[in-house]
Amino acid sequence: MTFLETPIENLSGLGRARASLLQNELEIYTYEDLLLHFPIRHVDRTQITSVSALHASSPFVVLRGRISNLNVSGMGRSARLNALFSDATGSIILTWFHGIKWIQKSIRSDVNYLVMGKPATFNGHINIVHPELELLGNVAGQQPAHGFEPVYSTTERMKERGLGTKMIAKLMSQLLYLSQGQIPENLPLPLLQKFRIPPRAVALHQIHFPDSSNDMVRAIQRMKFEELFFLQLDYQYAKVERQHKSTGRIFSVIGDSFNRFYSEKLPFKLTGAQKRVVREIRADMRSGHQMNRLLQGDVGSGKTLVALLCMLIAVDNNCQACLMAPTEILAQQHFATLSKMLAGLDLHVDLLTGSTKTAEKRKVRERLLNGTTHILVGTHALIEDSVQFHDLGFVVIDEQHRFGVKQRSKLWSKSQVPPHILVMTATPIPRTLAMTIYGDLDCSVIDELPPGRMPIKTIHCSERERLKVFSFLHREIERGRQIYVVYPLIEESEKADLANLMDGYESIVREFPLPQFQTSILHGRMTPDAKDYEMTRFKNGTTNIMVSTTVIEVGVDVPNATVMVIENADRFGLSQLHQLRGRVGRGGEQSYCILMTSDHLSATAKERLETMVSSSDGFRIAEVDLKLRGPGDLQGLQQSGLLKLRLADIVNDENIVSAARESVMQILQLDPRLERPEHACLQLYINKKQQEIGWSKIS
Ligand code: ADP
Ligand code: MG
Repeated sequence: MTFLETPIENLSGLGRARASLLQNELEIYTYEDLLLHFPIRHVDRTQITSVSALHASSPFVVLRGRISNLNVSGMGRSARLNALFSDATGSIILTWFHGIKWIQKSIRSDVNYLVMGKPATFNGHINIVHPELELLGNVAGQQPAHGFEPVYSTTERMKERGLGTKMIAKLMSQLLYLSQGQIPENLPLPLLQKFRIPPRAVALHQIHFPDSSNDMVRAIQRMKFEELFFLQLDYQYAKVERQHKSTGRIFSVIGDSFNRFYSEKLPFKLTGAQKRVVREIRADMRSGHQMNRLLQGDVGSGKTLVALLCMLIAVDNNCQACLMAPTEILAQQHFATLSKMLAGLDLHVDLLTGSTKTAEKRKVRERLLNGTTHILVGTHALIEDSVQFHDLGFVVIDEQHRFGVKQRSKLWSKSQVPPHILVMTATPIPRTLAMTIYGDLDCSVIDELPPGRMPIKTIHCSERERLKVFSFLHREIERGRQIYVVYPLIEESEKADLANLMDGYESIVREFPLPQFQTSILHGRMTPDAKDYEMTRFKNGTTNIMVSTTVIEVGVDVPNATVMVIENADRFGLSQLHQLRGRVGRGGEQSYCILMTSDHLSATAKERLETMVSSSDGFRIAEVDLKLRGPGDLQGLQQSGLLKLRLADIVNDENIVSAARESVMQILQLDPRLERPEHACLQLYINKKQQEIGWSKIS
């Protein structure tokens, strides 16, 4: 066991109970884990702000002055303590909601305090709620004791047990003292020299207790680089390993299935981009290595067809293929499309989802195992262990953002030789994000829409214009077109949202009455049968209007639908709006996207909607989305484990992401097995990682 691997309970003064609290609350098990628990910020007690310079958007500040005029208002739970804080330049209010009695008793009016906190406004005045206080004594010019003090995140439970930020700082300082000479460098020396990166031991010290703000910045840069570097190493080394080890299947034949489909069934000419991508995938399939490829293409760019062509190549080489979709509706739609396109070609396509009846499930499994099924379409149900193939050679995952790395790796076990994997996403991913989370995938892009598509007209309307919108919808329906009306339903369980949707449905039915008009409704709480029924009615044109939640967000394809009305559009993320808009404009008719909002919008909401109105480029929209929401908000990603970064921020640290990625690429090109002496530290890391989690299995 190395020093850094020492269990945290060995730290004197911590004790068993608090050690297990650190483990449970913050996943801190070892000395290294604790050292990597970085401060959320520092308080610089030497940088004192004067009250006159404060404004509501000031960051965390340190003030020096006196506290007076304490007064309690309200009773019981609504009680609050206000006090006046003044320095030579002015006064603000300090406010407490908890611990009022104790604070009231302990504050003195004859001494100076350091007051620390984040200013806010209340009733037009600047205040600070629950400031941190430090008694300075009454010497006017007295300077605070030290400079930068780290502030750590803790939890309520930790605070109750005396593990607040001050205690953590104390433990950290003790640990850093013990660590002298015990923190080995983990980046290759040439890299440190090239980028003038401080050694790890120095950076870990300076990131907690910096000597100057310059040292702090350099330490943060170093730890960010380290974090991104090892993330890239994980991915890229796994890729190199795979290419060394895995013998991918070789699909050398283009046979009957492909050729007959291409010449007899293909309803249109492939776009140039589709052709190019099929060629790229074909090259992978013949290379002898397993393919892991990401196919990015804006909504409507024709990814399904590319997938189908590649599946047919697999079938021509006596393998089975499967297509996995994120939702039931989408799986059903793919199944219907493929079955129709492949009719008469003597190929067996099966469907397997969560709602497939037990008896049918058994039959499908049987057909899979004995090789009757050529192509399987399904949802998550398809990666269950009970689903075994005769010989699975090619896997397509549609709309990747809902599948994590782990789920992908599960597909490997379905077959002796791992199948080729094609991951398709319609959510264009900004470059930095792609480099960070899909570092292990090769990438193809369809950057061309099928010909004859008219750009969708996007309009932002407020509630006042609703009548105009309705009469426009009437005109479109009279011309034989169909319409989506989408309501936000962030959580399918949210009652208010459901009520909102129902109200919306009723007002639509009132405006577009039976029997002249038919309206469908679709939301997540309906049974699969009911959803299927409504979707089918809309698809075959029986209903004119589809009122729905975002369950129709991905993939749904009804070319006759020309208007997408999005209610409360300000509540949607940009990428989501773009996805929804992609549901129309699929046929030859002019299509429209109407973004409905109230009159009062926040500045970011306005910016989001303006972006939608002015741009139809999915990549640009994704960039803006990431900038506006920030990566901290990419919760789906974080929950799925795709993006777990302590420090680095993929939006603002684009340069570091690229530098880390390129460094890893260069190292692995030069020394793919990491055998050179200067790469010993990396070899060590890889060995450890592989022991820990069997990383080599995870693609
Ligand atoms: P997405 O990339 O969003 O999954 P789809 O695969 O659903 O797009 O294709 C969108 C529509 O475009 C479908 O109706 C499909 O049949 C049609 N399409 C695909 N490729 C072409 C092409 N080369 N020419 C004309 N239409 C095409
Ligand atoms: Mg699709």
